[in-house]
Amino acid sequence: MSRSSLTDLVQDLASGAIKIIDLTATLEPSTPTLKLPTEFGWGVSWPFSIEEISRYDERGPAWYWNNFKCGEHTGTHFDAPIHWVTGKDHNDHATDSLPVESFVAPACVIDASKESAENPDFLMSIEFIKTWEAEHGQIEEGSWVLYRSDWSKQIKSDKYLNESDDGSHTPGWQPDAVTFLADERNVVGVGVETVGTDAGQAAAQEPMFPCHNIMHGANKCGLAGLKNLDLLPAKGALLIAPPLKIKGGSGSPTRVLALMMSAV
Ligand code: MN
Repeated sequence: MSRSSLTDLVQDLASGAIKIIDLTATLEPSTPTLKLPTEFGWGVSWPFSIEEISRYDERGPAWYWNNFKCGEHTGTHFDAPIHWVTGKDHNDHATDSLPVESFVAPACVIDASKESAENPDFLMSIEFIKTWEAEHGQIEEGSWVLYRSDWSKQIKSDKYLNESDDGSHTPGWQPDAVTFLADERNVVGVGVETVGTDAGQAAAQEPMFPCHNIMHGANKCGLAGLKNLDLLPAKGALLIAPPLKIKGGSGSPTRVLALMMSAV
């Protein structure tokens, strides 16, 4: 058999030269879900719940299986462009129709963990992204941009949603930074460690929920609830993030993996 990039990949995986990092949080009933302001009468996304059908018992002597239910946007999950009104008229914009090439793409990891720790309402700016590019090189077209906030380390704590009387306080984006990534860098989308791709206070931003509004308006995707971004290089990882093929789906819980070179 002749060698190819794929046979190299298989060998590098077998030898450990390339390792696989799981960027997925475990889906369980305690998985935090996005809480929208209730005063508008907006609908509620079901939290994850699971019910045992049988476990090698009288309900099924040789098999174990469960029913589960949750909203499409629960835990580590994918946002398709159809999720937002600004993305509703694109073609191939739902979980079943998105081009599969969107699901395998390189990752640029922008570290804003220090800023997020200092200010839970930190909003990433164009200047912040350009400072990162000055160090690591320009974000390549067709990349995922991953926002490292280290927020996933708090998933078992109230600090994850960080709610107070005026809503949630978690990091996000300045609107023009999202426009820059969509228009000037033509990314596949952005991924974050927080419960959604926008800041906790994004209902009060202009436009409301700018990352959703602008990214999906540009027919681009999102990933929320990621973890282990601190294990990835700034550049060089390959992300694998296919959502469930729900017909017309706006998103789905997703197992997200990253391939990266082992440190030498
Ligand atoms: Mn979502």
